[in-house]
This record gives sequence, C-alpha cells and structure tokens, in this order.
Amino acid sequence: TSYFILSKTFIILLCLFHTIDSQSQPWSPLDAPKELLQMLIRDPFTLSLASTDFGHIIHKTPFAVFAPSSIQDISKLIKFSNSLPIPFTIAALGRGHSVNGQSMTNDGVVVNMTELNNNNNNNNNRIVVYDDYVDVGGEQIWIDVLHASLEKGLTPLSWTDYLYLSVGGTLSNAGISGQTFRYGPQISNVHELDVVTGKGDLVTCSTKKNSKLFYAALGGLGQFGIITRARIALGPAPQRVKWLHLLYNNFSTFSEDQEHLISLDGINKSNAPNYVEGMLLLNQPPLDLSFYPKIDRPRITSLVTQYGIIYLIELVKYYNDNSQDHIDQEIETLVEGLNFVPTFIFEKDVLYEEFLNRVHSDEVTLRKQGIWDIPHPWLNMFVPKSRIADFDEGVFKGIILKQNITAGLAIVYPTNKSKWDDNMSAVTPNEEIFYVVSLLRTTGFDKLEEFQIQNQQILQFCKDVGIGMKQYLPQMKTHEEWVEQFGHKWKVFEKRKAQFDPNNILSPGQGIFNKIE
Ligand code: FAD
Repeated sequence: TSYFILSKTFIILLCLFHTIDSQSQPWSPLDAPKELLQMLIRDPFTLSLASTDFGHIIHKTPFAVFAPSSIQDISKLIKFSNSLPIPFTIAALGRGHSVNGQSMTNDGVVVNMTELNNNNNNNNNRIVVYDDYVDVGGEQIWIDVLHASLEKGLTPLSWTDYLYLSVGGTLSNAGISGQTFRYGPQISNVHELDVVTGKGDLVTCSTKKNSKLFYAALGGLGQFGIITRARIALGPAPQRVKWLHLLYNNFSTFSEDQEHLISLDGINKSNAPNYVEGMLLLNQPPLDLSFYPKIDRPRITSLVTQYGIIYLIELVKYYNDNSQDHIDQEIETLVEGLNFVPTFIFEKDVLYEEFLNRVHSDEVTLRKQGIWDIPHPWLNMFVPKSRIADFDEGVFKGIILKQNITAGLAIVYPTNKSKWDDNMSAVTPNEEIFYVVSLLRTTGFDKLEEFQIQNQQILQFCKDVGIGMKQYLPQMKTHEEWVEQFGHKWKVFEKRKAQFDPNNILSPGQGIFNKIE
C-alpha cells in the first residue's frame, strides 16, 4: 500500500516525461482528466504486481494500475474509458487469488480495489455491523468481516474455506464451502449491492430494486460492474465447534453418508451438522495427516496403503459453552449409523474462529517452505449426483490414482441446488444434489505441464461420458465452451452484458466477451 502511495507522488512526472512506450495503445493517460491521471500508476514494480495471480501460470501486463481513493474515482475511470473511440479494458483486482488470469488485463487498467481500504483515503467505515446484516466494501477480505462481526457476537453464515479473499471476488463467483448445503453459497446471503456498472453508473441493487443488475453481478465473473459494497446476512456466532474426520474405504458408503448428513438439514435443523465436506487421502506423497493424533498416524497410513484411496468426511457441529453438556450426545446421534471404517473417527474441539480460519495456518507453513507462490493448476467442478460414482471410477481411480502425480488436495462434497437462486449468473448442474470437486494442486514449474495435461484429460473424460459437469471458477478457452458452460443462462448473460457493459470493458481476463489475450 505504501508503495502505491509513494508512487502517486511522481506519477505526474512519469506521465509527462515517460515516453508512452506502447505505440499500439489507442489511448494515452495524458488524455485522462487530471484527477484520474494522478491515480494511474505505471512503474514496473506496480505493474508486475498486477501481472500475475495465485495461479502463477498466466502473466499479462496492464497499461497502468489505478489506485482509487473513492467509489466515484472508479466511476470516473469507467466513464473515461467509455468516452474514448476505442475504450480500454478495466479489471478489478481483489486479492488476485484467481488461478487463470481472471483479474488481469493486457494493456488495459487494473483497478487495485485494496486502495479503497487505504486509511489515507478517509474510507474508514468500510465494514459496518448492524443487528442482522453487515455492510462491507467489495475490497474487504472475509477474515476482517468475521472479526468485525464477532465483536458483536454475530457472524456471516456462509463461507469459503480460506478467508483472505475479497468480498467482491468471491461474490463474483459464488463463495462455497462445507456450509453451502445448509446456508447456500455466499451469493445467496446478500441482501443488497452497490455496483459501478460497465457504463460507470453507481447503482444500488437488490431483489426488489434494480434486480437485473443484482442477479447479474452475483456469480457474474466481474462482467457487469464492480461491486463496491455488499450487505451480507448475519446470525448469532457460535463459540466453539466439534470438528470430525470419518474415514471410508468405499466411495459409495462415503457418498451415501455425505448425502444423508446434508439431508438432515431438511428434517430437523437443530440435529443437522453445520458443515460437511470431504477429501481424498491418496497413497501418494504428500500424505498430510496433521489433523490426527500422532499415535493414530501409522494405522491411518496402513489403511491408505492397503486401499490406495481413502475418502474422508469432514463434519462440523457448532455449539456454545452453555450447551457443553449436550454436544457430545448430539455428535453421537449424528454419527450413529454412519458406515465409516470402525474406529477411524477423529475429533477436535476448537474455537469457531480457529475452525473458519484453518487454511491460514497452512498458508503460513507453505509460505515458510517457499511453496505458496508457485504454480497452482487448479480445477474446480460441480458434478451431478447421478454421475458422481462414474466420476470416482473414471477420474479419482482412473486418472488421478493411476497417474500418481497428485500433489495437493482433492476435495469432494455434496450440496443442493435449491439453496442457489437460479436468477443469479452462477451456473450449477441440472440436478438437486451436485458435488463440489476441487483438485487443488501445487507444483513446481517443471511439472506444471503434466498437471495441465491431466486437467485436460479429466475434462475430456467428463465430456466423453456425458457427466453433465459445470466448472466452478471456470477456465473456458473458446466462445463455444462459454456458451456450453452457461447453458440455458447464456442468452440472459449475453443480454445483461449488452445492458450493463456494452463496450465489453470489464474483467477481460475471464475471456468471455474479449478474446483471450
Ligand atoms: P480476484 O482474483 O482478484 O478476482 C477474481 C475475479 O473477480 C476477476 O475477474 C476480477 O476482475 C473480479 N473482481 C474482483 N473484485 C471484484 C469486485 N469488487 N467487483 C466485481 N468483480 C470483481 N472459492 C470458494 O468459493 N471457496 C473456497 O473455499 C475457496 N478457497 C480458496 C482458497 C485459496 C487458497 C484460493 C487461492 C482461492 C480460493 N477460492 C475459493 C477461490 C476464490 O473464491 C476466487 O478465486 C476469488 O475470485 C478470489 O477472490 P479475489 O479477491 O482474490 O479475486
């Protein structure tokens, strides 16, 4: 942040004396109104920060990085672009935790949303907690929303696994985790948005007011506007959680039990779990057993070696200190009748925040080991329930286990379509229950291509046997693939784009309406 501020002081000099090096550029920052000019930063260091993302696979250099001090600045920038004979592209940058260049632009302008949170800009009311909702700036990160809410004994209900993501970034996708089956994705927990559209208009929208823009922006991959504020539902915060892992050596019992657990929500909410996810433990390095007591690790390793692949259900029940007496009984009832491998059930009891923020401790470890900022050829999918067994055979056992190159996490858990609002832009398969499958790989540059080939094989397998899968955080390569991804929503998506961003200015890195650069 301080670098951005320092940079501002000599930007005018830069613009006056720095020859505009991009002859092909159809516009020049010298054309920009003076108040915008000083927020357009072009030094190599700043440009390089905006030229990469968590994926470390795609690199694009913008013409400038924009450091807005207010929402109005964003609106002026977008209006300026629209006023040119050939408008330049504009990409909002939340935290750059995309893996495929989604928040980048070649030769356009990256809007560094974090600048809105800069204290020097007097924007210190960017998280305001009310009785049952919180108003949050689009640039805010979820961990800060959690902290502010907890101060009042409240909490958002729907989460992502990792909390250092921006609110605008996750709401542009969906925001999913083990709570989604119960509370819906994060986009189902939004009451209202402020959006600066692709025309530069600042619009407040909800299901009642300017609803087309509201539905378009939620899950809209940044195509219709820049989210500058979201009003997010809150509920009472629990104090603690019981956090369980149950191990399975058989996919069908694993998935049956997962589906049973999420079905409890529709039967009796107080008996239902608050979070259900699942993972694979593969007989491939690295086998991360850090969750389990040291004494149990050898027998878990033997189980994994014996079967090659073990499925684990991750299950959580929230509780408060004053219900300490009942919680053990509730857990007993919850796991009664489940078909995990006898005795392979493990439990932790932690604070609510420690559970929600669990991935951050992995981040700290990986950063120390120098393996956080390396390539991440991730693949995220929604697989319909009717084909998840075929997916297990064809992908988990048929490709991943056989090829033996997996380094990272494979997550798999069911969720339900009825908790999603189909008017929103987010895309899900055409069945009530579908599985989230996230292949979260980390690799050195030397192995990157192997993973990319494997991802293509997985996508091809799904296509060949007609799995009816939809990508999450989609990475389509052609127009036809985008049309297929959106399915019956494509026409509406296209129409909304023409209405809210007619010059195709916003989020070009998604490659939907702009050619993939
Ligand atoms: P960016 O990468 O900065 O931007 C993503 C897209 O949104 C870009 O197209 C950008 O232009 C656009 N955009 C950014 N801000 C705005 C805004 N304010 N208004 C409009 N458009 C905007 N996702 C889940 O759902 N569940 C998870 O559990 C989960 N875990 C993750 C864990 C890790 C370690 C990582 C790296 C990612 C994870 N994700 C998860 C994916 C994550 O939600 C998306 O990548 C999200 O886009 C990241 O937010 P960001 O702020 O970094 O967005």
